[in-house]
Amino acid sequence: MSLFDWFANRQKTEPKVQQQQEREIADGLWTKCPNCGVLAYTKDLLANQLVCLDCGYHNRVESEERIRQLVDANTWNCLDEQIRPTDPLKFRDRKSYSDRLRETQEKTGLTDAVQTGTGTIDGLPLALGVMDFRFMGGSMGSVVGEKLCRLTEQATDERLPLVIICASGGARMQEGMLSLMQMAKISGALNRHREAKLLYIPVLTNPTTGGVTASFAMLGDIIIAEPKATIGFAGKRVIEQTLREKLPEGFQTSEYLLKHGFVDAIVPRTHLKKTLAQLISLHQPFFPLLSPLNSHHHYSQPELIPLKTAQGQTTV
Ligand SMILES: [Zn+2]
Repeated sequence: MSLFDWFANRQKTEPKVQQQQEREIADGLWTKCPNCGVLAYTKDLLANQLVCLDCGYHNRVESEERIRQLVDANTWNCLDEQIRPTDPLKFRDRKSYSDRLRETQEKTGLTDAVQTGTGTIDGLPLALGVMDFRFMGGSMGSVVGEKLCRLTEQATDERLPLVIICASGGARMQEGMLSLMQMAKISGALNRHREAKLLYIPVLTNPTTGGVTASFAMLGDIIIAEPKATIGFAGKRVIEQTLREKLPEGFQTSEYLLKHGFVDAIVPRTHLKKTLAQLISLHQPFFPLLSPLNSHHHYSQPELIPLKTAQGQTTV
């Protein structure tokens, strides 16, 4: 075969290869990175906790998967699954809120935009809330507020550290005032958790905005963010129009907020479990006997991972 024929043949077969590749992407065998465009085996991507192996882009994680990533196997105890949203305002936009809820529940298999529960992380007990952006943009309605509030109260009663993985577009407008109330309600519960001298760590993932940022996302003892997450209250365009000023480059990103002291550390997802376990172990009561509720828990000291501080210094 001449070189010319070889190229001609290759051109003929290429569309087929492309078609097959497109089918495989559709089948979920391959996943294309939205940042760098590189194709990765979905299996490899999942093994790397949905962080792009080429550019480090952090893909969005569903709550089920996030729980699998963080909580030790067979220790997850789901709480308040029976709490379901209602439509007290009989709200209607393009479709009614109750239809929207039912459709989203069917599509995602979730009851609302947060899963809460208890479990262990590297052998250390914790209370964990995980928001899910798939459920109406992770918006905070009465159910999200109630579940997070109950989780915080249980953490206070059982003297557990609390971690909330945030991913939200803000308050749920379909519930009006009732969704705004949740900000005060969770903040109150968090204050009692704080008064009991217990540790609370919010983890801000892409995106964390609106009423969530304005309440529990910013009330942590230590605030962690994932790399390059969008974190803010109002959208960039709204702020620019209000202030009539151009906002700086990289505004409302994890990196910008770290530099300006709003978050304490940026932790890549692949280090998140170890980092959380490390922080929780450092905040265990020095004498376990002083805390009889925790005294039956045995844990090992996790390996220390350096954290980057705002000054770029490394600390443990
Ligand atoms: Zn990538």
